[in-house]
Amino acid sequence: MTADIIDGKAFAARLKENVAQQVAHLKEQHNLTPGLAVVIVGEDPASQIYVRNKNKSTREAGMNSFEHRLPAETTQEELLALVDTLNNDPAVHGILVQLPLPGHIEENAVIDAISPAKDVDGFHVINAGLLATGGNAMIPCTPLGCLLMLKDRLGDLSGLEAVVIGRSNIVGKPMAQLLLKENCTVTVAHSRTRDLPQVIGRADIVVAAVGRPEMIQGEWIKEGATVIDVGINRLSSPDGKNRLVGDVEFEGARTRAGAITPVPGGVGPMTIACLLKNTVTAACRQHGVTEPEV
Ligand code: NDP
Repeated sequence: MTADIIDGKAFAARLKENVAQQVAHLKEQHNLTPGLAVVIVGEDPASQIYVRNKNKSTREAGMNSFEHRLPAETTQEELLALVDTLNNDPAVHGILVQLPLPGHIEENAVIDAISPAKDVDGFHVINAGLLATGGNAMIPCTPLGCLLMLKDRLGDLSGLEAVVIGRSNIVGKPMAQLLLKENCTVTVAHSRTRDLPQVIGRADIVVAAVGRPEMIQGEWIKEGATVIDVGINRLSSPDGKNRLVGDVEFEGARTRAGAITPVPGGVGPMTIACLLKNTVTAACRQHGVTEPEV
C-alpha cells in the first residue's frame, strides 16, 4: 500500500480563500472588518518568521493586522498592560501572544489575561474548559487544522480508534478532546506509555505531537490508518543544510498508512489558516453576527 499524501498546503490555501470571502461578506453586509493583534516579545528567530507570516496572511485575507513588537526586557506588567489595552480595543477581535515568552514572564499569567472571547489561540483556561465540557470554545489552531483534515479525508469519525501521542495543552490534550467530541475512541499516549507500538498498532487515526524526529516507526502503523504528523523537527544533513522532519518515520509509514500528512506541507500551513478562521469566528461572536457560510 502507498499512502495518499494529505496536502495541507493546498487545503490551507482553500481555507484562507474561504476566510477571505467571509471577511468580504462581513465588510459588505455588516461593516465589520475582523482585526487580529499579534504580540511578540524579544528576538527569537523562529517566532519572528511565524509572526511575519501571520501578519501577511491576515492582511491577505482582508483583515486588519495589528503588530506589537516589544523588546526582550519588557516586564510582565508592561505586557499585561498591553493585553489589557487590546482587550478593550473594539477594532481588535483576536489577540495572539507569540510563545515562547522570555523566561522572566509567566506565560500562563499572560494567556489568562487575554479576554477569552479574543483568545484566538484557544489557550485560555476558560476555552480549555469549554472545549472539555462541550461548550462554545475557541479551539486551538493546530488541533483544529488536524481535525479539518481528518474530516475531509474520512468524513464521519464516529467509532474510530484514535491515538494521540503527546499531551501538551496546546496540541495533544485539545486534539484528544476534539476527537472525543467526534465520537472516536481516544487513547492519549505520552512519555510514560508502556508499549507504544502496540497502542499505535490498533489506531485508525494516529496524531503524532511529540517533538522527536521520526520517533514513530512506520511498521507500528496499522494498515490503512490515517496519520497526522504534527511534529516539526529540524535536522542538519551531512551537506550542512537543515531539513525538516516530522515525528513519524515518513517513508516507512507511507507503505502502511492509507493517508499521511507530510512535513513540511501538512499540518504547519493549516495552523495559520485556522488562526484566520478563529479570528473571523471571534469577530462574529463579539458582534452577534452569524458566521457567513460561503
Ligand atoms: P511538548 O514538548 O509540549 O509535548 C510533547 C509531548 O510528547 C509530551 O506530552 C510528552 O510526554 C510526549 N513525549 C515525549 N517523548 C515521548 C516518547 N518517547 N513517547 C511518547 N510520548 C512522548 O510539545 P508540543 O505539543 O508543543 O509540540 C509537539 C510537536 O508538534 C513539536 O515538534 C512541535 O514543534 C510541533 N508543533 C507543530 C505545530 C504546527 O503548526 N505544525 C504547532 C505546535 C507544535 P510527557 O507529557 O509525558 O512529557
